[in-house]
Amino acid sequence: MMSILPKKRLIIVLINFFMLFTLSAFAESVKSYEIEASINPEKFQIDGREKINFVPEYDTDKIYLHLYWNGLSKKSLLYKDAPSSLKSVLEKKTPSKITISSLTINNREKSNFHNEKDPTLIKVKHNFTEGKKYSINIAFKSKIPEKRYIRFGYSKEDKTYWLSQWFPKIAVLTGENQWDAKPFSYNYEFFHEYSDYSLKLTIPKEYKVITNLKKLGIKTKAEKNIYRAKEKNISDCVVGISKNFYTKKKIFKKDNLSIYLTNYKKIPEEKEEKIFERAHFVIKKLSSLIGPYKYDEFKIVNLSTIGDNGSGMEYPKLVHIGSNHGDYNRVLDHEIAHQWFYGMIGFNQTSEGWLDEGYASYYEIRLSEMDSGNREAPSSFKNMGVNNFDFHHIPVSIAWIKNVNKSPEKGNIFQTEFNSEGNGYKIMFLYYMKHPIVLKFLESEVGKKNIDDVFKQIYNKYLFKHPNTEDILSIFKKNLNKKDYKIFNKNLRTYAKSDVGVKKENGSFKIIRGKDYTKKIKVAIKKENTEQSLFWDDTDNISAKNVKSLYLNNLDYNLGNNFFINSIKHNLSNYIYAFLLLLGLYFIIKLIKHSKITFLSKNILYNSLIFTPLFIYIVQTTFSKTIFNKMDFDFSYITAVISRIVSNPPIIISILTGLFFLIKISISSTFYYRKKDATYSIFSILILDLVTFLLTGLYIFSLFITKSFSIFLFMLFILAISLIEPIKIYFLRKDPRIITNLPMSVLSHFAITLIYTVLLIMILFMTAPFFLKFPFSILIFIAILSILEQIYRWATLKITKHYIRKELNES
Ligand SMILES: [Zn+2]
Repeated sequence: MMSILPKKRLIIVLINFFMLFTLSAFAESVKSYEIEASINPEKFQIDGREKINFVPEYDTDKIYLHLYWNGLSKKSLLYKDAPSSLKSVLEKKTPSKITISSLTINNREKSNFHNEKDPTLIKVKHNFTEGKKYSINIAFKSKIPEKRYIRFGYSKEDKTYWLSQWFPKIAVLTGENQWDAKPFSYNYEFFHEYSDYSLKLTIPKEYKVITNLKKLGIKTKAEKNIYRAKEKNISDCVVGISKNFYTKKKIFKKDNLSIYLTNYKKIPEEKEEKIFERAHFVIKKLSSLIGPYKYDEFKIVNLSTIGDNGSGMEYPKLVHIGSNHGDYNRVLDHEIAHQWFYGMIGFNQTSEGWLDEGYASYYEIRLSEMDSGNREAPSSFKNMGVNNFDFHHIPVSIAWIKNVNKSPEKGNIFQTEFNSEGNGYKIMFLYYMKHPIVLKFLESEVGKKNIDDVFKQIYNKYLFKHPNTEDILSIFKKNLNKKDYKIFNKNLRTYAKSDVGVKKENGSFKIIRGKDYTKKIKVAIKKENTEQSLFWDDTDNISAKNVKSLYLNNLDYNLGNNFFINSIKHNLSNYIYAFLLLLGLYFIIKLIKHSKITFLSKNILYNSLIFTPLFIYIVQTTFSKTIFNKMDFDFSYITAVISRIVSNPPIIISILTGLFFLIKISISSTFYYRKKDATYSIFSILILDLVTFLLTGLYIFSLFITKSFSIFLFMLFILAISLIEPIKIYFLRKDPRIITNLPMSVLSHFAITLIYTVLLIMILFMTAPFFLKFPFSILIFIAILSILEQIYRWATLKITKHYIRKELNES
């Protein structure tokens, strides 16, 4: 799955990691599922029968059956683990249910089955002998949720009934009387054997079907469509039905592969082409890097949502992507990588989620690196210049720096104990973020080819089997030298500060090598007209002469020190250029001799003077102008800027900027609001503006602490700061009517402050990429900021005057 990390505050419980690993090397006992189901979409009802051919590989006196849809009830573990939004739904109703109406084992009726504590799991007692054939026949009814919750249910927006984990599924028999049978949880996915599936689906005639199985045909009979499909050696069966699916098929003859793309609404043809192209590219690439894709079809289903848990979901041969994100590549890459890591190499997603998610995320990064020329980030971030790479590494970069000093256990990726106090968010971070980073670190030591060789061996040894962590680590151990493996192992289990950096000393560059780095480090050097890439040894001495920029091609704990950019210190002309531009702008506005505009021009000048040093500091210490303009590095600039700020905060400049801005705001206000010859104290105005600043700081702080955005809190904040301006006006005019009218004008002031704040945030968002790319466009930002500031004052004064006038008229 592609996770949007759940915002939960939980505590990690560690368990001994040796206890965690599931049993390896067991054989499949469930030979096949033959499912027949009739779906009544109007009634949200499925009537199904299934025959499970069960040939136990071990003796057992019971079987476990998963009834996943019963998770949507208050008694389930899923409810306990779920975020509060889902909890509040389940408190009111039970949106879905699977009921078994009959169950026979070799024609013997069974009635002694009951829930195993959790409604998503039942135990059926029966004596099974190893190697003997059993046929388990189950009749069941499933109620489809009327909303899509966790990867299943109906959605009003895409009008699709999406059925995953929708039929009783047998758990995994791993040894004599030993079962891997975990109840459905919000925190982990699924685990099943490889079996043969056949499906016969009866649906109203106007409905279309998509499944991950291979379609055999459709017949129409008595206003019903009968759809048949099957597939061999697969671990799941998923179905979607809708009246309006738009499905396109593309055959890649050379690769013996057909790709299907199903959309719930028509999308532009170029976009479809891009998705096909990407999917084909990724399947081919991963086939060559890891091992061949073993099926001859692959399906992509693009619906409005997958239902509150991530932005995409993998099934064997089929991926489900929700379209509430702009980045098809990222989700596609990740979910396609799962075709190897869980699809064909059957990792246990319930107890070893770090394996499938870690490796899928690692290859997602590898693919995004190949794709740097073709940036496709989520649309909302695209405007900011954030690309795939940033998307991974901004959170990683910040979280690592923040967490690196925490107790070492917290860095251990082998964690599964989610309890109600547990830390789902942090554990997901370890699976999705930390694990791939550790692999990237290993890659920087041993090279991409060696990593791919390890995965090739895993593939060859465990294709359609269920390796556990120990199995996988032993392959790493065999392929790595002792030291590399030791560091790799340490990085997996601790918050090791693996870091490498660069610094300039006496006219040449030196490498700051963390003790975990043993190999030469790849470095990219850019001079005036040349670009060069070389492997750097400690003894190498790289002269800083003529070097414009230097970048260590390494993913490590602190990305901020991996760069050297020829900074402003060596580039006085930039200062002069900036100063002249400011001066020019000032005179242009000065030329327009309207008094109000002149005031505005002053405001722009002040703001420019105040903000320019901070801006130059951030940009110039991070990247040079040429790098932004030409985007020389496929490595992304935003990550570096943020890493730079986080790891090396320009605190003094920030404080000074804040202080000057505060004073300027107060002085501007006195110019704008006061009446002629009014007596006032600049001190009270300063205090008032200080209150605004403190409130803003407090508000930002509360966002950090709660890690969530509350509309209520935001409105409260707007309300508080909206009162500052009229009070300022009172201090400058000493007119008591302003205060007496304040309660009446609160709503208007509130509205104008709300508009102002939202505009400010929007403009900051929209202009940020420009001034990162073109440093001097900061001037445009400052101009807009100054104009907004003026409009805000003007509107506030108008509102205040309006209420005073109203009072005069009334009296
Ligand atoms: Zn995933």
